[in-house]
Amino acid sequence: MKYVNVAINLPVKNLFKQFTYQLPPELAHVDVGWRVVVPFGAQTVEGFVVALEAAAPAEYACKEVLATLDTRPWFDAEMLATALWLSEYYLCSPAEAMRLFIPGKTGIKRQAIYNESGKLIAYEYENKLKIKTRTCFGITAAGRAALAAYDKRVRAQMHALTVLAEAAKPMSSAELAAVQVSAATLRTISEKGWAERSEERILRNSYANRTELKESLQMTEEQRQAVDVIGDAIAGQRQETFLLQGITGSGKTEVYLRAAMQTLEAGKQVLLLVPEIALTAQIVKRFQAWFGDDVAVAHSKLSQNERADVWYKMRANAAKLLIGVRSAVFAPFADLGLIIIDEEHESSYKQDERPNYHARDVALKRARLSSVPVVLGSATPDLESFYKARQGVYTHLHLLQRANGSLLPQVEIADMRLELQRGNKSVLSSALSDALLQTAAQGEQAIVLLNRRGYSTFVMCRDCGESVVCPHCAVALVYHSTGEAMRCHYCGNTAPIPDECPNCHSRRIRFFGTGTQKAEAEIAELPDIKILRMDQDSTVKKFAHEDILKAFSSGAYNVLLGTQMVAKGHDIPNVTLVGILSADSTLNLPDFRASERTFALLTQAAGRAGRGDKPGHVVLQTYDPQNPVIRLAATQDYDAFAAGELEIRQELCYPPYTSLLKITVLDKDEQRGNTLAQRIVNFLQIMQLENTAQELQVLGPFPAIVAKVRDLYRTNILVKSPQMEAVKQALWQSEFKECRNVYFDVDPISVV
Ligand code: ADP
Ligand code: ZN
Ligand code: ZN
Repeated sequence: MKYVNVAINLPVKNLFKQFTYQLPPELAHVDVGWRVVVPFGAQTVEGFVVALEAAAPAEYACKEVLATLDTRPWFDAEMLATALWLSEYYLCSPAEAMRLFIPGKTGIKRQAIYNESGKLIAYEYENKLKIKTRTCFGITAAGRAALAAYDKRVRAQMHALTVLAEAAKPMSSAELAAVQVSAATLRTISEKGWAERSEERILRNSYANRTELKESLQMTEEQRQAVDVIGDAIAGQRQETFLLQGITGSGKTEVYLRAAMQTLEAGKQVLLLVPEIALTAQIVKRFQAWFGDDVAVAHSKLSQNERADVWYKMRANAAKLLIGVRSAVFAPFADLGLIIIDEEHESSYKQDERPNYHARDVALKRARLSSVPVVLGSATPDLESFYKARQGVYTHLHLLQRANGSLLPQVEIADMRLELQRGNKSVLSSALSDALLQTAAQGEQAIVLLNRRGYSTFVMCRDCGESVVCPHCAVALVYHSTGEAMRCHYCGNTAPIPDECPNCHSRRIRFFGTGTQKAEAEIAELPDIKILRMDQDSTVKKFAHEDILKAFSSGAYNVLLGTQMVAKGHDIPNVTLVGILSADSTLNLPDFRASERTFALLTQAAGRAGRGDKPGHVVLQTYDPQNPVIRLAATQDYDAFAAGELEIRQELCYPPYTSLLKITVLDKDEQRGNTLAQRIVNFLQIMQLENTAQELQVLGPFPAIVAKVRDLYRTNILVKSPQMEAVKQALWQSEFKECRNVYFDVDPISVV
């Protein structure tokens, strides 16, 4: 008898145990890494085989594995090891980690079966992912013999055999119909055993037919050096991590393309991670121009079936290069040879729900396990990556010049306090409105970034100062002029705009903050300006970002206005002006990464200007012109910023000098949640006293900055320690592991 240890794939937070099942003789081939269907309580569920077992368990009656879901193991040794590492590192169950590797999170669909009188009798399970196939025909040995003994009486059949004999591989019925081979003939020759019918998998590709021409550039000296060094590790199949720090417009993509080319030439596959696929359509196009159908794309708007097809292509080696967002880091590969992470500092690489993994760290783990080099690219590296490069853990590569010889733009700081004193109440400084007019007059284009805190316009009472907040989430409701209603950006709840203050009944309530819609209205008032807006509300469709960018690049508009997403990735040569409204609005968020984020955003935004042959100009509006972060962003001096910021981090004991763990307790009852949080704090403090973890700092409990979401109060604890593994282990062996309402966020992006 063979036994297997199975992790149950259910979206249950506290199902940590694995269970032993017996393999029936017909499934004796099942091994570690297979996906199986097993009985679990009254249900039938999907499970993952984690290990083989020598014997049946003593504590419970062992049930049998019912079926397998694929014809081969889903997890190879490296994927399984990565999954198990992920569950330990990010404090989640093995099944939770493993389901990340499955397109659609689970492979089976349940269907209820009813008897004639309408009574439920059973459930049936099927593989949820629909495979699309087409029927193909190939010639058999008997067919060749029949063709050799050519029979004139059945001319149509002989014609069909001739076509099939000449084809390199089986042909589909549609292809055969195009050369006058009918379905009836195909049926006849199949029945005679002259042709063989097969099903070929059709792979869906929503990016098909979106190709552009390949441009071939002479590499700059800096690019060539970087490619040489990376190429060395590719050729040697060596795990080495490169931090490619290149200013905006320095041609990092060209380096990625060449490194990818070398990897493909060595017969291996490439994984390229990008922060948001919609914003990086340009990079996809450039890769498709070079590599055509060898490129597969995976983004969050793919259907589950499309994603399954992409995964299948990578595993079958039918595609060589996978470009995808965060979750693409879990794709299976036939033979991976290089991982590239573009804009590696982007926080979208961290998943903000359980399991809170960071795609860069998962990629580094996979790379180490399969001995593959990794390229991390950015103009403004994550400080933790920068620190590792400075320590020599990563190989530091620099691109200091713009690739096409253009210069970084000139940055002008507009002091908004002076504007107010002069009586200018508009969102535009006079410097920016002048610059916009001039840019338009010269037939050039501008990008205006509205750096907002996550809310655009909220309703506030001028008498009592209350704003209208979501009753479930403790955040201000956001006003949208389109719907004539206010909406909560956390839970989606909408409410009509009140006529009077709900608190003091004053009628003097009005809109505050500058939303994109308001800024749009003000800019549109300037003479001869045609403005296009890009934000969450205007980009819900599948390719909406791309369409907006295309419309803007075509030159039909002078100004592109938007939030964070206009700042990143585009390369539009005719953009000579970038305006940044309220540069400092993200600077004062109570988060230790606020400066780093603001600096990166301002640098990225400024980097959109002057990428062609015309010089760029940036107007940076601020209420705090002396702020060092603003001043360094104006000179785009990353290294000076990093040096200063690292000193502060060291002083305050923040990453990269320590590790962080955020523990969040959710509870409907604020007091009860707080009590549980206090017990966790006590537990950690005892640990500290017993000195099992040195230099352990426990902060909190304190209410989260958004203290309530969907009626659940959120209480945070922040743990700092250079020996976090010991802290995590202790928590993992404690009663808190199985608390349904306690959440662990390892290496949190935001500590509030
Ligand atoms: P980054 O990603 O570093 O901001 P890109 O890769 O988008 O920069 O390149 C910026 C621009 O420079 C692009 O228009 C690209 O075509 C161009 N470019 C890149 N390498 C070269 C080169 N070697 N010679 C001329 N132009 C180049
Ligand atoms: Zn009021
Ligand atoms: Zn809400």
